[in-house]
Amino acid sequence: MSTLFTKIINREIAGDIIYEDEHCVAFRDIMPVAPVHILIVPREEIVRVSEAPETGDHIHLLNAARKVGQKLGVSEYRLVINNGEGVGQTVPHLHVHLLAGREFGWPPG
Ligand code: 5GP
Repeated sequence: MSTLFTKIINREIAGDIIYEDEHCVAFRDIMPVAPVHILIVPREEIVRVSEAPETGDHIHLLNAARKVGQKLGVSEYRLVINNGEGVGQTVPHLHVHLLAGREFGWPPG
């Protein structure tokens, strides 16, 4: 069965897709926590970083993030990956959050 994000990637359910290439797809988060909140997702259904193989679409996530930032005209942003339910992962399909447009505290909550 496909993940929620695969269904968005395949246009089976609606998503505001703003970037895609052969490895990754980026779309706006449905519940944004910053003025810019983009999810960058590898096409391959990898559950999380700690279960990822050595190679695959996920190794292109940082390149995709850079291109998403360029496309949106933001040069400063925070990239977040939640690896596991205990640290906030709710969708079991590896993804990077690109957040921008407000101040961010450190350490993160
Ligand atoms: P996580 O908590 O797994 O790191 O991030 C999952 C993200 O997916 C959350 O920020 C949540 O708002 C977002 N999300 C959940 N369901 C949908 C959906 O149907 N469409 C979109 N675009 N984002 C979603």
